[in-house]
Amino acid sequence: FWEVSYNIAHVMHFIPVSISSAAAVRHIQELLDEPTRGADRPGAPDLPRISHDISFERVTFQYDGSETPVLDGLSLKLDVGKTIAIVGPSGSGKSTLLNLILRLYVPDEGRVTIDGVDIRKVTRESLRQSMAVVFQENMLFNMSIRENIRLGKEGATDKEVEEAARKAEIHRYIMSLPQKYDTQVGERGDTLSGGQRQRVAIARAIVRDPSILLLDEATSALDQTTEAAINKTLMKLARGRTMLFSTHRLTSVVDMDEIIVISGGKAIERGTHNELSAKGGMYRQLWDDQSLKQHQAADDDDEEDDD
Ligand code: ADP
Ligand code: MG
Repeated sequence: FWEVSYNIAHVMHFIPVSISSAAAVRHIQELLDEPTRGADRPGAPDLPRISHDISFERVTFQYDGSETPVLDGLSLKLDVGKTIAIVGPSGSGKSTLLNLILRLYVPDEGRVTIDGVDIRKVTRESLRQSMAVVFQENMLFNMSIRENIRLGKEGATDKEVEEAARKAEIHRYIMSLPQKYDTQVGERGDTLSGGQRQRVAIARAIVRDPSILLLDEATSALDQTTEAAINKTLMKLARGRTMLFSTHRLTSVVDMDEIIVISGGKAIERGTHNELSAKGGMYRQLWDDQSLKQHQAADDDDEEDDD
């Protein structure tokens, strides 16, 4: 169940109050609210608009009721303007790391800082203003494409919406639809393909013009061609932002500026694809495992192929 509620909680975090206060949605939100943990301290200032490098300083974090910490003295610094991938086996704590940046949870020990400021000391509102997040499954609401994108920024003009759609490379497709931006996406957004839904979700993130863009397995559910195309789009947006991709699919991280491997609650390797491949450590091992699986899958598809 938490898989589902997790996504709902995140969506609520990032959509305007006017929508999220609709009765049904409010009910879900009440169920999920954890007022004490993420609350602002009295008199907390806003996060200043800054250069946005994010640091984890010896962060230890354990979910309530679990026996072992997910993150265990993890330290790392994420520089602005770079595309950074967090990779690691399933369950290694990639999503947890993003949750801590979003302040959906707070560290048990250590701290998460943005430009040296402990994120617990600034208002949640200013934090969420500076961030956007895209997931593997994103909620599209049964309203027009325009309104779905506008959820990213209350009061965004039509021009801003279209500009974001252009950057997400979905504008041309939208314009090819008879109703264009007024097209209703339908229940659960199933009038769009998976790749198109993802691009609408990315446009929603872009319209915020976030300083920090977090992508949690954002393209993992797509076929590899679509994934590659969307990643290319995303990487063009990195300038002037901090961009963090979590993924367990390594084919998508080859071109990123930096790859950080997490395992055993720590960041154990860091470098480019070539550096980490040459190093012969955990990254190399994950890569070899995935290549092997892909080869096996390809052999099953085409038994003639004796490559
Ligand atoms: P990843 O994204 O790398 O697959 P996660 O950060 O989702 O890993 O999970 C790390 C570990 O924490 C896993 O063992 C997972 O089962 C556990 N976990 C994740 N979310 C919760 C939660 N809300 N409550 C309890 N345990 C959780
Ligand atoms: Mg995850």
